[in-house]
Order: sequence, then C-alpha cells, then structure tokens
Amino acid sequence: MINRRTLLKRLSALPLVGTIVGSGIPVQSVLANSPSIPARDLIKELGLRTFINAAGTYTAMTASLMPEEVMETIQASSKEFIMLDEVQDRVGEKIAAICHAEAATVTAGCWSAMVLGLAGVLTGKDKDKIAQLPNLKGMKSEVIVQKSHNVAYVHSLTNTGVTLVPVETVEELENAINEKTAMLWFLNYQAPYGKIQHEEWVALGKKHNIPTMIDMAADVPPVENLWKFNDMGFDLVCISGGKAMKGPQSAGILMGRKDIIEAARLSAPPRGNTIGRGMKVNKEEILGMYVALELYVKKDHEKEWKSWEQKISLIEQMAKKVDGVTTSVSVPPIANHTPFLKIAWDPAVINLNRTQMQEKLRMDNPSIEVISNGDHEISCTVWMLRPNEEKIVAKRIQEELIAAKV
Ligand SMILES: *Cc1c(COP(=O)(O)O)cnc(C)c1O
Repeated sequence: MINRRTLLKRLSALPLVGTIVGSGIPVQSVLANSPSIPARDLIKELGLRTFINAAGTYTAMTASLMPEEVMETIQASSKEFIMLDEVQDRVGEKIAAICHAEAATVTAGCWSAMVLGLAGVLTGKDKDKIAQLPNLKGMKSEVIVQKSHNVAYVHSLTNTGVTLVPVETVEELENAINEKTAMLWFLNYQAPYGKIQHEEWVALGKKHNIPTMIDMAADVPPVENLWKFNDMGFDLVCISGGKAMKGPQSAGILMGRKDIIEAARLSAPPRGNTIGRGMKVNKEEILGMYVALELYVKKDHEKEWKSWEQKISLIEQMAKKVDGVTTSVSVPPIANHTPFLKIAWDPAVINLNRTQMQEKLRMDNPSIEVISNGDHEISCTVWMLRPNEEKIVAKRIQEELIAAKV
C-alpha cells in the first residue's frame, strides 16, 4: 500500500524516528499506530468521482453502501486466518436457519450462485464430473426456462455447458422434459410475463423429479422473500447480497436442498480443478454477508418504508413547484420494490432533455446520479441515499428545472 519512499519520508517526519529505528521496532507498527500519519484518501488521489446515488442498486454504480456493522466485521475478520470451508460451514448453517432453507452458502453474487447451484445439480458429488465441466459428457445437459424468463442472466446457466429449452405452456414444458433435462429455472421478476407461476413450476419439478431453481437477485424487499421461495419448495434459491441487503457487492447467497448445496460447494473455492474456482468469496465477505443479512432481517422495514415515502415526497413537492412539471410515484411489484419518483416536464416550458438534465446533475458538486427514461423526464429512488441527501437532490433538481425555463 505505502511504497518504500513514502514510508521513509513519513518516518523521517516523526520526531522519534532515530530511537524507533534504532530500537528495532518494526516501522510498520509505528506507522500504523501513529496518529500523525494522515489516512490516505484514494478517492482524491485517483481523482475518482463520488456521487449521491438517487438511482438505485445498480451494479455499475457499485450498488449499495455497506453498513458500519458489516465493515467492522470485515475489518475484524481480516486480522485472522480461518479455514475457508469452516467459515462457509458455520455461516451457511446460520443463513439457512434465517431463510428456512436446508442449507446455504455464500457465493460471489447471485450470478455465481446460479452457476454453482446448477453445477451441483449436474455433477452431484462425482469428482470426475466436477473436473469435467463445462463438458457435459455423461451428464444431463438441458435446462427448461419460460420464454419470457430467457433474458441475459441465463448466461450463468449456459456457463456450465447446458442448453436452454424455452417453453411457454405447461404442455410444452412436459413435452420438453426428457432424460437430458437437468433443471427447471424460474426468474422471479419476470413471473408476471410467464404463463406458468411459481407454485406450478415447483409442482412440475416435483412431479417429474427435476430440481427447480429461482433467481430472485434483486427481490428484497419485501424481506419475506428471503424465505418465501424456500417455503414454497424451490430446490435452489439464488439472491444478490450487495443490492438491497447491503452486504458486500461481490457476495450473494445460494440456498436450498442440502445435497445440492454440498455438491455445489465442490465446484467452489478452495477447490481448484473446478468451474467455480474464479468465483472466490473471501472470509471477510462471507462474514460480512451474514451480518448484512441479519441486519436486514432485523430492521424495522415499515419505518424504513415510511422514510422512503417522506424523502420521495420532499423531492416531488420541490419539483412540482416548477411550472410545466408533472410527477408520479410508483412501486415496482417485484424487484427493486421501493418507491420510484418520475419527474416529467413539458419541453415547451422547460427547455431541457433528459441527457442534459442528467449531465447537469452529474457534473455539479456534489454529483448526483438519477435514472433516465423518456426524452423529457428522469426518475429517482431514495433507498440508497445517505441521511439528508434527499434535500440536496430535491434542491438540485428544482434548480435545474427553473434554470431551463423558457
Ligand atoms: C443483479 C442480478 C443478477 C446478478 O446478481 P449479482 O449478485 O450481481 O451476481 C442476476 N439476476 C438478476 C435478476 C439480477 O437483478
């Protein structure tokens, strides 16, 4: 972290430098304990833009900020060695208990939960098969999905070598099932667009003795979703840890049937000759994920929802004061289930397009990120704001709307 030259320069600035060096006390320990060494500000040093996140838990925007308790867990555990499998074992038991699952494991995000979960289904505990993936010789090789669920995230599945078989109706699904069918995959946020709903999907899996998996990456709140799909009978449930749960951005959870989770872990680090070796989660993230989940489950969700509504309302009221502005508030029923405020304006009254608005908010200090939609509107959410940032967002949006009045 600190290079040798900087180290020496800083050391020579310490009044007791001679004595300390002469005494043989390691330089590092002096530096680490010295209050006179200012903390390094890498954001400044690298000229990185930070911003107020009024957009949401977008991966590109680094999704969410970890609470203090999560960071303390990461800090404290970073000072000790622990066997990676032992951390996973203990944390897995705890997470499984919280989420009503037989077993659970922390993965490198929801995406790797899906790769590993499917790998577990395909290989079982067969060491040769595990080493062989993504070559599926001698294994099942098809995953059935609904056409409307067949979106970008299925790449996590095809990573294992499987072929997707898209279907629309129950009849098509039952006709598509054959000796090569490994799994039935369900994408929670696309549920309203599919002909087959959760319970029926699970029932079809049980009827044909084929494991079912659900991707519910961004689908808390509501908090109950953490156990709902385990209770419903999905064999595997995958979720992101770094979105609304505010765990490490690179963490997620795979939970469900014990035998499959055990098999999935055989494809995960520390084991090397595996498809999942690049999906490492360190002990700090594993423990951080656990603490984030606990905090998330315990928090007062009603109170938090009210505070979101208040913040949205403040931004809305300020924007609405400007002539030519219309606003509306909506809540997506599944995924990113939090109030969204849409602010639209009449371009005949306010001469601004959405890109100009976004840039003005982005280039100012503090920089603000919002969501862009139609030509003359933006949207924002407030769940990723730090205390009082809603006031800045409200003020800045209003200022730019007023400034662009014709
Ligand atoms: C975010 C997301 C993923 C990927 O999750 P990571 O935790 O970033 O790996 C997968 N599926 C859906 C639906 C998502 O929203």
